[in-house]
Amino acid sequence: MIPFLDLRAAYLELKHEIDEAVSRVLNSGWYILGPEAEAFEAEFADYCGTAHCVGVANGLDALTLALRALEVGPGDEVIVPSNTYIATWLAVSDVGATPVPVEPAPATHNIDPARIEAAITPHTRVLLPVHLYGQPADLDPILAIARQHDLNVVEDAAQAHGALYKGERIGGHGDIVCWSFYPGKNLGAMGDAGAITTNDADLAERIAMLRNYGSREKYVNEVRGVNSRLDPLQAAVLRVKLKVLDKWTERRRAIAALYSEHLAETGLVLPAVPEWSDSAWHLYVLRSPRRDALQAALKEAGIGTLIHYPIPPYRQQAYADLGFANEAFPIANQLAGEVISLPMGPHLQFKDVEKIVREVRSAV
Ligand SMILES: *Cc1c(COP(=O)(O)O)cnc(C)c1O
Repeated sequence: MIPFLDLRAAYLELKHEIDEAVSRVLNSGWYILGPEAEAFEAEFADYCGTAHCVGVANGLDALTLALRALEVGPGDEVIVPSNTYIATWLAVSDVGATPVPVEPAPATHNIDPARIEAAITPHTRVLLPVHLYGQPADLDPILAIARQHDLNVVEDAAQAHGALYKGERIGGHGDIVCWSFYPGKNLGAMGDAGAITTNDADLAERIAMLRNYGSREKYVNEVRGVNSRLDPLQAAVLRVKLKVLDKWTERRRAIAALYSEHLAETGLVLPAVPEWSDSAWHLYVLRSPRRDALQAALKEAGIGTLIHYPIPPYRQQAYADLGFANEAFPIANQLAGEVISLPMGPHLQFKDVEKIVREVRSAV
């Protein structure tokens, strides 16, 4: 059996350091925010090359708090990709605003900057690109459109830890960049965790206040905030894993290169990587009109695959009230029917990659 992702292997590689870090927190007697959370915030900001990082409870909260900090609310519109994980949309709905979908460039699966302006209305407040599968969205044109129309840019970087756009790490391009450290992400905790990074001190401070009951000073609450604090136990684990993130990303890159080399002649649509992009290879996503048959054949051969994502947010029952027809976003719809993610992770063995390649080739 080759699992889609082996999270236990990641723990075993770092067992000594992680056990020590967890024990350090347990022995400190300090279990909410505090020095461990602050140390991770400083180290992750440094890694991203940004001035500030604020740890929160998960990636969805990072997105929601980013929008709240920008005072996005009812009556406002936020431009989101038509194909993304539903969290991107849920954050917009959570603050009472309306998600306005824009189709991706089919080759990269990322929001197509050329389609954004047509979706802008007088109610638009924020552009919310997603670096889907670890591959940066084309940020320069997105930032230029935002400047021209006086909009903010919030990035959903939940899949893009360590990805580079034109040689520069994701983390400080837009006004606020949102991170998830869900265990399966490239930088993953042993539970839920998230963060925002930004170069704007006021926004960072505002999010730090919002995540902690709307309070800067204990028992003094200036706004109705939430409880969405980064757990110091998770921060301690993340500090250990941050040290190996680049090494693990290299390994992902090597696996992706092997897949792309050995699947080149199969007729499958392989991931396209623009020359300005250095993907973090969170996922290796193929496309095939016979995707379901391919997935079944791989399952038969003991190879775990996943579909990211089978139903685009605009077709989910959760968004039925927006009234989109099934064919309203044909690119997102087609991608949802054709994508399949092969096993990918820093602990996937090269001999297993060879077996996966063999099985894919014999299945198509
Ligand atoms: C994982 C993910 C999120 C949400 O992160 P959680 O930590 O699970 O809340 C948001 N957006 C994208 C694109 C994701 O992949």
